[in-house]
Amino acid sequence: MIELRSDTFTKPTPEMLEAMMQAEVGDDVFGEDPTVNKLESKLAGMFGMDEGVFCPSGTMANQIGIRVHTQPQDEVICDKYSHVYLYEGGGMASNSGVLPNLLDGDRGRITATQVEAAIKPEADYLTTSRLVVLENTMNKGGGSIYNFSEIQKIKKLCDAHGLAMHLDGARLFNALVETGETPIQFGETFDTISVCLSKGLGTPIGSVLMGSKTLMKKARRVRKVFGGGMRQAGYLAAAGIYALDNNVERLKEDHAHARALGEALAQKDFVSEVMPADTNILIFTVDDVQKRLAQFKEKGVLGVAFGENQIRFVTHLDFTEDDLEQTIKIIKAL
Ligand SMILES: *Cc1c(COP(=O)(O)O)cnc(C)c1O
Repeated sequence: MIELRSDTFTKPTPEMLEAMMQAEVGDDVFGEDPTVNKLESKLAGMFGMDEGVFCPSGTMANQIGIRVHTQPQDEVICDKYSHVYLYEGGGMASNSGVLPNLLDGDRGRITATQVEAAIKPEADYLTTSRLVVLENTMNKGGGSIYNFSEIQKIKKLCDAHGLAMHLDGARLFNALVETGETPIQFGETFDTISVCLSKGLGTPIGSVLMGSKTLMKKARRVRKVFGGGMRQAGYLAAAGIYALDNNVERLKEDHAHARALGEALAQKDFVSEVMPADTNILIFTVDDVQKRLAQFKEKGVLGVAFGENQIRFVTHLDFTEDDLEQTIKIIKAL
């Protein structure tokens, strides 16, 4: 089967497994796993942030991020399609007791003007606007990339109003290889950043939350309370170190593959619209989602339904040039 449902289906390569086998480990709850410590400081160093906290999932990293910035009854400003709102089981309500203030962005990207209008004045009867969460790249927006100058405008507003900024950077490296922006630029702008190692970077497990020493001290405590304190997690962290050293630049190949699939699909009568594939996510609109997904599956290609009449394909490390050729052939023949 050609797997295009998600970039989370990748399996570790023999080289990555070898790096995992060789890892030096200890009890990370005691802060004594040298490989976890190495991964956390490697990423924090890349982003120019104080510390990182290794988490089992991106959801946990985001939920901890929200928790360390807020108090119950506060409000989190984010796009209506954001992962923290749509795909984390309503966690911000139960884990942090906060409300989302949902904005209607462009393919998931909100603007400074929208944020400014959303920030509430102080009043006993209003929620307190406390945090802005941005997502880059934006999953539901078809892997769309934020314009960095817009992020800077939002940052200025947040500074002026005393709001914190969290970045859901599950696929931030996909954005960086396209734009040439640096991790440091993002580290300077956001108070906390989460990045996933198990998406395009190809590890089996793991995300890292980064931020200041003070925030990360809080984050470690919250991670423990959420049940995310791990022991010899260095075996997993080693995969992350390997991925950062070997799998970042190659993300560009995934983007080229997604664009090639988009071009082939745009030729088909049953496809009415193909969202531009800015990175590795391709969302396209079809006449009948279940029928087309079944046809693809019969020919050996797996995708997912995304909304009422859309299908999502995600390219990744295990989707090879051969798979691309094969998939384009299948598309042409449908
Ligand atoms: C995948 C993803 C996450 C985290 O997901 P987990 O499955 O919990 O690791 C967070 N944000 C975005 C945008 C994602 O795509």
